[in-house]
Parts: sequence; structure tokens; C-alpha cells
Amino acid sequence: MYIGIDLGGTNIAAGIVDDDGRLIFSDSIPTLKERGYEEIVKDMASLCEKVACEGGCKMSDIKAIGIGSPGTIDNSRGMVVYSNNIKMHNAPVVAELQKYIDLPMNIENDANAAAYGEYIVYGEGVDSFVFVTLGTGVGGGVIIGGKIYRGFNGAGAELGHSSIVIDGKKCTCGKRGCLEMYASVTALIEQTKEAAAAHPESIMNKWIADNGKVSGRTAFECAKAGDETAVAVKKQYIRYVAEGISNIVNIFQPRTLVIGGGISKEGDELLAPIREFVYENDYNKYMPKTELKIARLLNGAGIVGAAMAAKNKS
Ligand SMILES: [Zn+2]
Repeated sequence: MYIGIDLGGTNIAAGIVDDDGRLIFSDSIPTLKERGYEEIVKDMASLCEKVACEGGCKMSDIKAIGIGSPGTIDNSRGMVVYSNNIKMHNAPVVAELQKYIDLPMNIENDANAAAYGEYIVYGEGVDSFVFVTLGTGVGGGVIIGGKIYRGFNGAGAELGHSSIVIDGKKCTCGKRGCLEMYASVTALIEQTKEAAAAHPESIMNKWIADNGKVSGRTAFECAKAGDETAVAVKKQYIRYVAEGISNIVNIFQPRTLVIGGGISKEGDELLAPIREFVYENDYNKYMPKTELKIARLLNGAGIVGAAMAAKNKS
């Protein structure tokens, strides 16, 4: 058995994962991210013991612990070099956790961990694999030859920060026009708000009033009901996502590309038009095409991936 920890800005989730990458049991606690990393890590240690116990194992059954954390990670030194989300700078998270639990550990960027989780689920035989997550931001990971591609410095594969609009919207990373500013759920919510305000006749306004807020589902649901403004928002949003994924496919030509994050729950409503655009604009006209799929693990991907990366650490 292994433990995977998914350290997020809101919650710390941890779970017991078996040898084949099956999530046996998981639980979560609030991160309270304003605290220092030492206190957060102390809670991570207690959570590990809790999930082991409630998941029906002893800590002596656990072979390794994997951590997925936001930010730039130094995997070889077990450190969070920098995280904007949870305030950490050169935080030796692995060494700190090993003060409480004496086990082999591994730390990855959270998007890389989630990518690795989906990779395990979709078959380890695949030689090239890309995961793109459409959530609060746009994240992702690249797995080549069974290994997480981190770049020479650990900061690699930030798929959400390739730009799709020159001099476009200013991104949190400092650059303008990043894919994240157009294809994240945050961006979709912004696009929906703007369109609803500009079109008082749109039923999206009623949806928003009934639900008390705009969400990533607003445009998709109102489009299903035939609302023209919602159809236009959905179409434009999918175009942004497809443009980004088309770039990724042309760079990597991965065997499989999986789309995850909250919006991936839309399933084929999202995937079919993306597939059409990506295949139409594929540089590769004559060779087999990248398989495009919706993520399977959703919230469990970070836990499973962190655990399996710890298992397979080399
Ligand atoms: Zn950016």
C-alpha cells in the first residue's frame, strides 16, 4: 500500500492506494493555507495516520508516501521551491514530513501528479501521454517513456501558460494571452458573466438568479435549452480550449491526451467539438492520430498519481 497526498489551496486530501493504483480510502482536512509550511506538514502527517487507520492498514503496511503540491517543485531535494497559492518558498516539505513518518517519500507538482494518476489508469504501456486540466487554472503534465517530464529545472510542462492571444489578457504568471486566461473554468465564468450582462434576454440571467451564482455549467446547461447567447459562449470557450489542445498535439503528437478538471464532466459535449477542431488542424495528416479522452479519476487523480509516482520513483 501507498499513501498519496494532494495538497491544495483549500483542502489537504490523502488516500490509501494499492499496488495497481486503486484508491482504497481517502479523506481530507482544510489546508488553512495562511499558516507556515511546518504546521501544514504536521497536519499532513496526522492525516496520513488517520487514512491508514480508517482505510484498514497499519503504517507498517505503507511502503512509500507521495505528495502533489502546487508550485515549482525540486523533486530531487524534496522541496517546494516556490508556490504562490500556498505561501511556500524553499520549503523542505519531504524532510519535514519525514520528522513524523519514517518512510520513502516523493514530491511532484500537483498537475504532474494528476497527470501521472491518469496515465496509470489509462495504461502504463502508452509511450507518450499528455494530461490537460481545465479548472481554476489550466494545468497539465507530460509523461514520456513512463516518466514525468519536468524540464531540466523541474518547472516544465506548464501547458496553461502557452499564449494563444498576442498581447491578450494579463495572466497571473506575468505574461499576456496565456491559454489559462481563456480556457480555465475561471475564464469561462468571466465569459458567461459578460455575455449574460450584454444580453438581458438570455435565459442565462434566470439560471444565474435561480442558482445564486455563475458557474462553469451555466453556459453549457443554457445552451442545451437552446439559448443563443449561451450557445455562442460555449462555442467560443470550446474554441479557446481546442486551440490550446491543437498546439499541444502538434508539439508532442502524444499517443493519448486526456482532458480533466471540473469542466470535463461535460463529457462528449466538450470532447466532440475539440476532437473535430484538433483533427482538422492537425499537422499530421497521414499518421495515426492522438487519442483524445476525458479523465476518469477526477478528484482522485492527484492522490493516485502522487502515490504511484512515489512507488515508481527512480
Ligand atoms: Zn500565464
